[in-house]
Amino acid sequence: MQYYSLNNSSPKIGFSEAVIKGLAPDRGLYFPEKITPLPSSFFENIENLDNVEIAYHAIKQFVGNEIPEKELREILADVLSFDFPVVQIEKNIGTLELFHGPTMAFKDVGARFMARCLGYFNKNNENHVTVLVATSGDTGGAVANGFLGVKGVDVVILYPSGKVSEIQEKQLTTLGQNITALEVDGVFDDCQDMVKTAFLDTSITDHKQLTSANSINVARWLPQLFYFLFAYKQVKNKGKDITFSVPSGNFGNICAGIVAHKLGLPVKHFVASTNVNDTVVRYLDTQQYEPRASKATISNAMDVGNPSNFIRIQNLFQNNFEELKKLFSAYSFNDDQTRDAMKKVFDTTGYIADPHGAVGYLGLKKQGLNGNDYGIFLETAHPVKFLDVVEETLETKVEIPSQIQKVITKEKKSIRINSYEKLKEFLLG
Ligand SMILES: *Cc1c(COP(=O)(O)O)cnc(C)c1O
Repeated sequence: MQYYSLNNSSPKIGFSEAVIKGLAPDRGLYFPEKITPLPSSFFENIENLDNVEIAYHAIKQFVGNEIPEKELREILADVLSFDFPVVQIEKNIGTLELFHGPTMAFKDVGARFMARCLGYFNKNNENHVTVLVATSGDTGGAVANGFLGVKGVDVVILYPSGKVSEIQEKQLTTLGQNITALEVDGVFDDCQDMVKTAFLDTSITDHKQLTSANSINVARWLPQLFYFLFAYKQVKNKGKDITFSVPSGNFGNICAGIVAHKLGLPVKHFVASTNVNDTVVRYLDTQQYEPRASKATISNAMDVGNPSNFIRIQNLFQNNFEELKKLFSAYSFNDDQTRDAMKKVFDTTGYIADPHGAVGYLGLKKQGLNGNDYGIFLETAHPVKFLDVVEETLETKVEIPSQIQKVITKEKKSIRINSYEKLKEFLLG
């Protein structure tokens, strides 16, 4: 499998190089040259396959021959060692819980897969890399956890000071070893811009191999397509048309869902559900893509003003606006609507949705479902990760799971920076 840059002026490269580079030299995102649908027998028989088998068949064309079958299966077995249940909430609505991994947000799968691929490519110490990553909340913890102790990889995480939850902050600042947290005076977009600038700064890249663990990295982005296959496996016997609603920030997760659809997964519609950071929603209305500075919300992992993966989505539809609109909608909700949805779901069903999941639920309601539809919204984080908002909104206590209990008592260690120059000093120091 070859990957090309969506800016079209960098050479094509294989999977390992795309993972190690992260972003192409021309600043474009890497994109697979070809997506070959899986045989229809795969979907007909999917309920008889275990998750590792499903994942292996889905990902192998993207990895090509750069990781042998045995090792790739071992990586997947390790990455997918927890559950991905669809929990029924209403008659024709279920939630796909993606928070049963070590950091309790859906980014665990991508981060762990990428870490293990890099570990494999670096097994003879040939490819020492520094992973540089910006986080709006959950990426940092997932990446820190996934890469902890991986040989030959240093991880530097940039996060916006005061804009991530206390638990999220603890998850990314308390591990030590090969993980460093940089606390940035600014918003998420500032962090993301610094990371993108560093990749193009030859005064850094001449000395260090930098890569990204944001969903711009193909090894972080692509494994997310598994979720949609795992959900299908569980609801297939209902015989309904499936609509997925994906709480979206950088649009990597939903983009991976569309890749699953390209592989042959039967999906009626995709809904991108966003908070007031509504660049894509406005685009679908006006056909003008006008990114704005991000605004802080209670669903902070989606506070993204310029979603990096939207260009990949456009590409999956050959940049055809009409084709995109047939399969894909986007809706935006404010914090009051999100809180009301959390309350409504809790009061009527007893289910505790986190603010991101609640935005996903609202997206399904806005899209509308008929009698033959089944809507699945992705629960992208455990409610405990947004403890204050959830407890205050629902006037209930959330039990703290053991993997979170472990980090909250640990001491935060971060380095404060307020400019790109400071980041550079740190990387070269
Ligand atoms: C990262 C994240 C999102 C947004 O996912 P994208 O792939 O960036 O669109 C949504 N919810 C939670 C909890 C997240 O951590």
